[in-house]
Amino acid sequence: MKRCPKCERSLALYAFNKDKSLPSGLACWCRECTKAKNKAFYEAKREERCEKQRAWHHANPEKARANMRRQYQRNRTTRIAEAVRVKQQMDPEKRSAASRRHYERHRPQILERQRRYAGQTRRSSAPRPRLIVNSSNAPRHLGSTSRRS
Ligand SMILES: [Zn+2]
Repeated sequence: MKRCPKCERSLALYAFNKDKSLPSGLACWCRECTKAKNKAFYEAKREERCEKQRAWHHANPEKARANMRRQYQRNRTTRIAEAVRVKQQMDPEKRSAASRRHYERHRPQILERQRRYAGQTRRSSAPRPRLIVNSSNAPRHLGSTSRRS
């Protein structure tokens, strides 16, 4: 047993962290008190830390962007897997309703993206017809839902 001077409890030795710099080889305060103290310190310094980080991001926009990109790439697989998992757990009806809603809401962007990347995702070297020009001469895009209706 060892007494913690902070909470004044006598506790078993395993309730204390190791500290090789001390002759006893054990930390002075018990784990619980140490943890509480560290947490309070962390909370107290929180604003300061955030402010410093903001300042750094502001001063090093290039590095900050690179860091964020690296982090994104590192977590990319996990994040995509998680998104897929969530999607698969959804009720199929709800899922298709959600994707319909998404399409309606972002239709202009989706069409623009299709236009921009038309043919680029194909691995085959064969050229892909990009546009269907109908008799009224209005360009229509492959992949649009109004095709063959
Ligand atoms: Zn204690």
